[in-house]
Amino acid sequence: MREFGYQRAYDVSGAVALLDGDGEARFLGGGTNLVDLMKTGVERPARLVDVRDLPLNRIDPTGDGGLRIGATVTNSDLAAHPEVRLHYPALAQAVLAGASGQLRNMATVGGNLLQRTRCGYFSDITSACNKRNPGSGCPAVTGEHHNHAILGASDHCVATHPSDMGVALAAFDATVSYETADGPGELPLADFYLPVGETPHLETALPPGALITGVTLPPTQVAANSRYRKVRERASYAFAIGSIAAALDVEDGVVRDVRLAFGAVASRPWRARTAERALLGAPADAEHFAAAADAELAQATPLPHNGYKVTLMRNLVVAGLSELAEEATR
Ligand SMILES: Cc1cc2nc3c(=O)[nH]c(=O)nc-3n(C[C@H](O)[C@H](O)[C@H](O)COP(=O)(O)OP(=O)(O)OC[C@H]3O[C@@H](n4cnc5c(N)ncnc54)[C@H](O)[C@@H]3O)c2cc1C
Ligand code: SF4
Repeated sequence: MREFGYQRAYDVSGAVALLDGDGEARFLGGGTNLVDLMKTGVERPARLVDVRDLPLNRIDPTGDGGLRIGATVTNSDLAAHPEVRLHYPALAQAVLAGASGQLRNMATVGGNLLQRTRCGYFSDITSACNKRNPGSGCPAVTGEHHNHAILGASDHCVATHPSDMGVALAAFDATVSYETADGPGELPLADFYLPVGETPHLETALPPGALITGVTLPPTQVAANSRYRKVRERASYAFAIGSIAAALDVEDGVVRDVRLAFGAVASRPWRARTAERALLGAPADAEHFAAAADAELAQATPLPHNGYKVTLMRNLVVAGLSELAEEATR
């Protein structure tokens, strides 16, 4: 591991000033991803600016009935928060479906959004990888890609984004707030992650040196009837091979409102807008849930070893929405 400097920030402007736009410095949240990557040499920062003591560890109601979640709120505190559990249950479930209790106690909201892909070639510094070393190639396309992307990928990178939390935030139209030396800014989650294209190393639309300060959830009535479903290769403590965040409002057997986002199938949490459009005003039954999933997955471009994800996601959508429809009519 490269030797590095360490500083602790106590206020937002101080944190941004300490980072000083230095390309060799990184903010440190819980360190549960960054420090692992430093140990393997994927990340080699000269300096860390620890942000865990910033006054961003609160979850507060917004004036319009939504929630503002600070960037240093731990995953454990987010999942346990009564307002989150009541009004956005899929978010609490998504967070609890990730990592382990110990990791969730350390991991922060800001760090979760910026965690890096779990593609094995990315983590192996002896391997080529366009995301880690632009222009070096993507061995996953012809190699090991059974858990890689089926939606929105390119020949340059087929990695998936690993965050469970991000999938629920995508379904609920969250906005990410940040601070730079030039002042504050905001990005809807839908625009936060950049399309892969030819530049998989450019992952987000955050300006250089930006500190994430929080995430805002708008009031979304349908979110109260929501679920996160995650499929993984072992029962716990594993990343998803496919997941959905779903919310459903049904009236007289017809879909009145719906939210659907997919995880572990794209380089970013994937909002399934085509499926949502297909469902609005349709009968809330398994046949229409399957048709909506098929409409979304018609865009899928699976590789030889990850085509199973198309069926997996279809089944997840049908099961998740059927469960919600049943509860909505109880
Ligand atoms: C064994 C294991 C299993 C896991 N399983 C899952 C899982 O199933 N699902 C899941 O979603 N996650 C899982 N995780 C990932 C875990 O959730 C992330 O490591 C964690 O969320 C990252 O948060 P952190 O605060 O520790 O980030 P850090 O490691 O501190 O930072 C990650 C990145 O974010 C940047 N950063 C941190 N905070 C800020 C900020 N406020 N502003 C700007 N940049 C910032 C850092 O510079 C770094 O680049 C797992 C991790 C491990 C180690
Ligand atoms: S899929 Fe992306 S992260 Fe994985 S090797 Fe290819 S370029 Fe690198």
